[in-house]
Amino acid sequence: MANFIGMKENQESLDTVKKIFTEYLEGKGHRKTPERYTILKEIYATEGHFDIETLYIRMKNNKYRVSRATLYNTIELLLDCNLVTKHQFGNNCAQFERSFKFRQHDHFICLANGEVMEFYDARVNEIKDFVEKELKVKITHHSLTFYGICENHQAEKKSAPAIKEKK
Ligand SMILES: [Zn+2]
Ligand SMILES: [Zn+2]
Repeated sequence: MANFIGMKENQESLDTVKKIFTEYLEGKGHRKTPERYTILKEIYATEGHFDIETLYIRMKNNKYRVSRATLYNTIELLLDCNLVTKHQFGNNCAQFERSFKFRQHDHFICLANGEVMEFYDARVNEIKDFVEKELKVKITHHSLTFYGICENHQAEKKSAPAIKEKK
């Protein structure tokens, strides 16, 4: 959904993200094709998490001419320059999200329908600092995901008829 309040900031973010991507492509000697920038733009217009197949279908429906191969290849590049983060939430289908400037967070997965929720807790950073000190290591990233049953699905189990969850 469009968020008009955040639009100006989004535009600034997108410009910076494009710059980072350009520098990366040039540095690595990859071609700067318009398709790659279209994919970048589309991903940064996406809130939350997505899988490649859904992104592919959405781009196709929006009449973008992007092949599956280009999409997969571009995602690999975006992962490599840290503009996209990959999550493997316990199922087979990898999920992705934009990562530039977006607040660090971790995830909860509802086992009833695979719904992803996000939370932020500063203590995760404290744990990171502790581990770095304790093991004398340098941490580059982490992955923390909780699994369980969300509030709506807990209610569903207790009371019939089932409550329809908002999409
Ligand atoms: Zn997330
Ligand atoms: Zn749920």
